[in-house]
Amino acid sequence: MKVVKFGGSSLANAQQILKVLDIVKHDADRRIVVVSAPGKRHDKDTKVTDLLIGLADSVLAGREYAGELEAVVQRYAEIQKDLGLGSDIVQQIREDLEARIASRSSKKAQFMDTMKASGEDNNAKIIAQVFNQQGVKARYVNPKEAGMLLSDDFGNAQVLPESLDRLASLKEVTEIAIFPGFFGYTKQGEVATFPRGGSDITGAILAAAVKADVYENFTDVDSVYAVDPRIKPDAPAISLLTYREMRELAYAGFGVFHDEAIIPAVHANVPICIKNTNRPDAPGTLIVPERKYTHGEITGIASASGFSAISLSKYMMNRELGFGRRLLQILEEEGLSFEHCPTGIDDMSVILQSAPFTHEKEEHVLNRIKTELGVDDVTIEHGLALIMIVGEGMRYAVGVAAKASGALADAGVNLEMINQGSSEISIMFGVKDVDRKHAVRSLAQALLRKS
Ligand code: ASP
Repeated sequence: MKVVKFGGSSLANAQQILKVLDIVKHDADRRIVVVSAPGKRHDKDTKVTDLLIGLADSVLAGREYAGELEAVVQRYAEIQKDLGLGSDIVQQIREDLEARIASRSSKKAQFMDTMKASGEDNNAKIIAQVFNQQGVKARYVNPKEAGMLLSDDFGNAQVLPESLDRLASLKEVTEIAIFPGFFGYTKQGEVATFPRGGSDITGAILAAAVKADVYENFTDVDSVYAVDPRIKPDAPAISLLTYREMRELAYAGFGVFHDEAIIPAVHANVPICIKNTNRPDAPGTLIVPERKYTHGEITGIASASGFSAISLSKYMMNRELGFGRRLLQILEEEGLSFEHCPTGIDDMSVILQSAPFTHEKEEHVLNRIKTELGVDDVTIEHGLALIMIVGEGMRYAVGVAAKASGALADAGVNLEMINQGSSEISIMFGVKDVDRKHAVRSLAQALLRKS
């Protein structure tokens, strides 16, 4: 059995939906289909999820929202008309959205999730209709009934372990199961969504639950590339990756696949295949537990912007028992998650995402660090980017870091930080955001095999 997930661009209009239908029809093992909300039809278009966020914001702010509601409905109406479906489905979608708006409680995050989730939920309903109309027996599956239970971190939910046993019964569905991605329900029965791009996570959870032979993730590129093609258009394609390599690359900006979607697949040992809806015969990228690798080989280079660093120093820090814990505890109490924490003898840096680190939080955290930890010096730097060089083969190679830092030096890029995890399958460099692309190109030139 295969679980297949289609991203928003694969479902953006009638023409794309028919490609999806062909792909599913082509292979009798494709039994569970996870769908995103309709995505962009062209570069300047807006994803339905973003339309829904705008709509929810207007409702919450008490602004006039009729036009925004209509814009969402029209995305589905276009699909309905182009595929010659009955118009009652559009009426149902309109009523569904109105009911969600009417049921709004004072809890902002819950309401936002209820609205966002409608994008995939209504799309799954319309796609199930298209399949049946085209002679492929399909059934919309309600995530609540199927048992997709999530934590109550609205907008950032995680699956609860008991979901897997419940979802395993999807194996018994005789028609093609059309399952909306991106959301589930809390134990209290409220809608909760995964982080953005979270339909990948839904697909991985279902693949793990039914112990699928493979989880196929259809998107709009042929494969994963060793460097983001927007930075280096001639980057080589990667045909085979390990879970750990993909997790590291996805963490640092490889948007093709959500980093959190690796975990359920890893636990159940289900291989993941990234494929292109527009070229389904292209081999794609296979992500597996283990692969043979060549000594010293670099698999990919990823980069992500939007990081800040808190750097502090205190004479004799190395002798002060509990210093690191107390620093990290301040961050925990302020609700800030840290990403990396390189240390020296008398100094320590903490890298965190800039978005939740607001100006107010910054002042407060600085104050607490100064007063509670008695540091000699503390500074905060914004506008940092992380660059991750990833490859299982690196573990057994000498000199990768030297080659990489040499390439950055030749390119005139100042290194703010270097960090290597104990797994040794990645080396991370911190650079100024303005240097990010230039740095990635220089590293690719120095470290990657030529395609
Ligand atoms: N539609 C959601 C988003 O745009 C989830 C997804 O497409 O995976 O983030």
